Amino acid sequence: MSGVSEPTDDPASDDPPGDHTNVGVYTGTDTLLAAAPARPTLGTGFAVDAGHVRERAASLATTTDALQFTPFDSSGGEAQVFAAVWHQIRPQLYDEADALLDHVRQFDAPRLVLARRRTQPATLWESRTNDGNGAWLPTATRQAVTDRACEAEVPVVRVTAPGRRDDCHRCGATGTVADGQLACPDGSCPVDEVGRGQNAAVHLARRGARE
Ligand SMILES: [Zn+2]
Repeated sequence: MSGVSEPTDDPASDDPPGDHTNVGVYTGTDTLLAAAPARPTLGTGFAVDAGHVRERAASLATTTDALQFTPFDSSGGEAQVFAAVWHQIRPQLYDEADALLDHVRQFDAPRLVLARRRTQPATLWESRTNDGNGAWLPTATRQAVTDRACEAEVPVVRVTAPGRRDDCHRCGATGTVADGQLACPDGSCPVDEVGRGQNAAVHLARRGARE
């Protein structure tokens, strides 16, 4: 996708020899879906911005919030709105998940590494309002990726989410974030900017290699 910088070549980083190539998969609200291996090289990164999907999710949250402010019982209306929007978004998420699975076929024996949820997951319905930015969307995206990986017989592991995902994947300095891009503050680091989601995906892949 244009506009998102890929992780810079990182020959020094370590992906211990194993049976799999660990590919970190990040899902978020700024970048819908991003992936990268532990040792990124040009062309190994993957990112989907999916602004149109995020806009639909955001408008769903706004509509739901408005319905909840009405003085009458709006739960039936909320369910209809949610069902209608989900009907539109769901096939798009699975299309993006298909594109991700196509992308990871370039690796030897790929294994997807996703973040383990910190808390008991809420259902999509329970988390549909959230902070107005459709926080249920990353959860739904993860589910789409997991389902497609299962169908493609690509193994999936879940690891504890790296605590400092906005540290530069190359030098470890904590970057600054703007418009889904992470800028490395270290002038001597070859990373100028990297997609935030792809940077987080590199951290996930490395954690997957260690666990
Ligand atoms: Zn750096």
